[in-house]
Amino acid sequence: MDRTFDYVIVGGGTAGCVLANRLSVDPAVTVALLEAGPPDSDPAIRIPAMVAKAIGNPRNGWGYKSAPQAHADGRMLPVPRGRVLGGCSSINGMVYFRGHPREYDEWGVPGWRYADLLPYFRKLEHYAAGTGAHRNQGGPVSVIDIPKPNPLIKRFVDAAALLGFARCNDFAGPEPEGFGPRQGSIRDGLRESGVTAYLNPVRHRPNLHILTDHPVNKVLFEGKRAIGVEAAPGGQTQRVMARREVILCGGAYGSPQLLLLSGVGDAAQLAQHNIPLVHELPAVGRNLQDHPAASVSVRTTNTESYGLSWRTVPRAVGIALRYLINRSGPLASNVFEANGFVRSQPGLDRPDLQIIFMPAHRNANGHWLPIGHGYGIIFVALRPFSRGSVTLASADPRQAPVIDFGFLSDSRDMDVLVQGFELARRLLAAAPFAQLESNEVSPGTAVQSRADIEAHIRRVLVTVHHPSATCRIGDVVDAQLRVLGLQGLRVVDASVIPTVIAGNSNIPVTAIAERAADLITGALHD
Ligand SMILES: Cc1cc2nc3c(=O)[nH]c(=O)nc-3n(C[C@H](O)[C@H](O)[C@H](O)COP(=O)(O)OP(=O)(O)OC[C@H]3O[C@@H](n4cnc5c(N)ncnc54)[C@H](O)[C@@H]3O)c2cc1C
Repeated sequence: MDRTFDYVIVGGGTAGCVLANRLSVDPAVTVALLEAGPPDSDPAIRIPAMVAKAIGNPRNGWGYKSAPQAHADGRMLPVPRGRVLGGCSSINGMVYFRGHPREYDEWGVPGWRYADLLPYFRKLEHYAAGTGAHRNQGGPVSVIDIPKPNPLIKRFVDAAALLGFARCNDFAGPEPEGFGPRQGSIRDGLRESGVTAYLNPVRHRPNLHILTDHPVNKVLFEGKRAIGVEAAPGGQTQRVMARREVILCGGAYGSPQLLLLSGVGDAAQLAQHNIPLVHELPAVGRNLQDHPAASVSVRTTNTESYGLSWRTVPRAVGIALRYLINRSGPLASNVFEANGFVRSQPGLDRPDLQIIFMPAHRNANGHWLPIGHGYGIIFVALRPFSRGSVTLASADPRQAPVIDFGFLSDSRDMDVLVQGFELARRLLAAAPFAQLESNEVSPGTAVQSRADIEAHIRRVLVTVHHPSATCRIGDVVDAQLRVLGLQGLRVVDASVIPTVIAGNSNIPVTAIAERAADLITGALHD
């Protein structure tokens, strides 16, 4: 028998959790949240420092790989993506960042300027350190300054100061530029995800139905109106109908894939897969934008970094006990505790390069190693010019979509990364680090020429997981996030972002979903 709700939300990730909470405030309105993955029961999800384990557990993710990247030695990059309640907010690095205010202003979309979003950035947060014009207390998402960062963090920030960079103490403030400590979405020593912030407090509402292990195959239409979805719990198809709206929150890969599977997209692509056309919208899945990054890694005999060695066994035992007893100490930290936002060239009006400090040992391929000591820097091209796409590999919803980042297809992105590489080396050679006995393991000091640096970047290039813009406002949805040309269907997630935010995307997506909730309920009229 069909089940019917007022709102059917597809995808229980960052945005889906926000909407499930906000739309079910009215007890007269019924809401179903359909998530393809299981509940977020993996203990590694909870403990902040176990983020690498949470990402690595196949039960928590889709297991995607990118299409071969022509400008990164043809490699297929790992694409971790949450397939679990909470979505990526259950496996992400918990780094708390809003993006530069001018990002939003440059979208040029009425209602989505920074001034429009600031009330939602404030509404969503509970910032332990205080409140003010830009910060707030009392919201669902707990954000903290990491209480006792790794000692190498001070060396990193001091090194930046010696090189003449400004310090930034609050990257969620109006001028996120310079070097400083990062804040984390962490509550009482545990990960703050969409589930803990938005779902757990309201699970008891009788009008909210959280349906995990419910992958959705397609949206159902009557003419141009979305009337529900076809889901496949346990492999059995069933219809879940929507009286008011279907809201896609499948993320920057999931939402365009679902639209295409439902017959909304580029007519030629749909014909290739024998999917009947419901509505032609060629931009669905085009324009994928994400942040490419590479790294420099150093090994050291100094034991300040996170990581295990014989000499640090007693410290490790102490760390475990401290966490068990009062959920504090390094296990309550998200590891990547400091970064810098800088301009790669003098003429720019804001940063386009992120310099992330890694107080842990990585091997020559950039993989984090829990045994041994070391540190390094990840540098990220924040405002990439390259564009990619999400397309269908098959009409079978169980097949992964083709994710082609097109990384470095615009050579300006390589220029930014080369600047990042050189700055990383200068920072790691500055006095605070020079006191440590260390040697560069990746790429190694033999790499000096521009050609060799570029070759290193291509060899270790990764995504730092902020895919956006595959159903962007203007091309696929309108300013109220309604799919163009159709009724009863919205997209609310990272895919609607017109230009990828120059920074980490979880909090921007949360704010977008907060504002979308007001648009949907009619609390806000644009
Ligand atoms: C490894 C990693 C680390 C990150 N680190 C950070 C960080 O430290 N700070 C930060 O700000 N951002 C970080 N991000 C990015 C941030 O988490 C994402 O931008 C954000 O979570 C995106 O939210 P979303 O709602 O768009 O999508 P998601 O959170 O991905 O949610 C989409 C949900 O939809 C579900 N879904 C998809 N298709 C279907 C379907 N057909 N049927 C049913 N359900 C479906 C998925 O399973 C998923 O649960 C990270 C991301 C990753 C992957």
